Amino acid sequence: MNVLVINCGSSSLKFQLINSESEEVLAKGLCERIGIDGSLTYQPEGGEKVKSDKAMPTHTEAIQFVIDALTDEKTGVVKSLDEIGAVGHRIVHGGEKFASSVVITDEVLAAVEECNDLAPLHNPANLIGINACKKLMPGTPMVGVFDTAFHQTMPEKAYLYGLPYEYYEKHAVRRYGFHGTSHSFVSKHAAEFLGLDLSASKIIVAHLGNGASISAVLNGQCVDTSMGLTPLEGLVMGTRSGDIDPAIMEYIAKKEGLDIAGVMNVLNKKSGVLGISNNLSSDFRDLEEGMNDGNKYAKAAMEVFCYRVAKYIGSYAAAMNGVDAIAFTAGIGENSGTVRKMILGYLGYLGITVDEEANKKRGEDLVISAADSKVKVAVIPTNEELAIARETVALV
Ligand code: ADP
Repeated sequence: MNVLVINCGSSSLKFQLINSESEEVLAKGLCERIGIDGSLTYQPEGGEKVKSDKAMPTHTEAIQFVIDALTDEKTGVVKSLDEIGAVGHRIVHGGEKFASSVVITDEVLAAVEECNDLAPLHNPANLIGINACKKLMPGTPMVGVFDTAFHQTMPEKAYLYGLPYEYYEKHAVRRYGFHGTSHSFVSKHAAEFLGLDLSASKIIVAHLGNGASISAVLNGQCVDTSMGLTPLEGLVMGTRSGDIDPAIMEYIAKKEGLDIAGVMNVLNKKSGVLGISNNLSSDFRDLEEGMNDGNKYAKAAMEVFCYRVAKYIGSYAAAMNGVDAIAFTAGIGENSGTVRKMILGYLGYLGITVDEEANKKRGEDLVISAADSKVKVAVIPTNEELAIARETVALV
């Protein structure tokens, strides 16, 4: 079956058409600036990537252009919509309502809408994408795959904050966690790749991309994760602060004359390694170069980032009373041997030793721990689209 995987943002839409039997990507692309002007980038398997300007007042036009491109006589990869068996939609926040993927029905859409307050930038955009798809492909089954679902197995002690309990009961304030599709995919694949029995394993997944989070996966189930009510908590990220003393917010608001929205903007967009590096970059390629050139801000950014990851790994080893394997994934985790080495440098007490040569490689399934290491350390490229396609096929 061919599955169309859609990841819809407020003004953008990423898509892949995946053949579920061969797991090949038949075509992929991106619609950008929806509601502003609009452009479509489209690439069929083995073909050229082509970007063209197209008027996209709404997501409905964007999806129509995607369908046109996929079924185009010259560049298309299917003859008609009949060859698309299902659509898998990424949905950011499922609150406590969704602990797994679901076939999308009117009741599901209503429940997703009830989670809009928890992800006001993302969920409404996801819903717009689903509704536009339903309009253009009315007979095609659709599945929703939630970023939060994998983390719903966390126990109460991991998801409650030290806040009045009534905030949890009245306003659903708790840890939810994100990147769940990736943490699920990578933990399963790591167990398989390393020859561990997933149902009797302690795995820590470090998803280190522009957005970064880490999770503790005990016997295949998530028991803790670093992102919280929103993706702002936890690790230091590209532009997000991660954990800070919450009192800093009031202090900075007074000193800098900012309101809540202004402070949130700083914490989400101007902090993280971008902020620490004195605005040098949020990209670790630039930071590494800066650090090697002696830039003290770049060095501080790299060190703060890696130290925070190492501290989380230590706390999750404590949470699971041990760790069998650590898996690095996403842009930084898959590509930066330097970052991995800096993080693992803190973890000798766990009996971790590193295979320096293996750690220099990038972008493929790799074991980077040495043969005598007490904990296996791997690089496992994530593939959220494939994970969504698999979930979709399983449900339809
Ligand atoms: P997201 O999906 O959150 O946007 P990605 O997982 O694609 O992020 O990761 C993007 C980040 O990966 C970049 O910002 C950059 O910091 C990092 N990255 C990509 N390639 C490399 C590389 N070769 N070396 C170091 N870092 C890299």
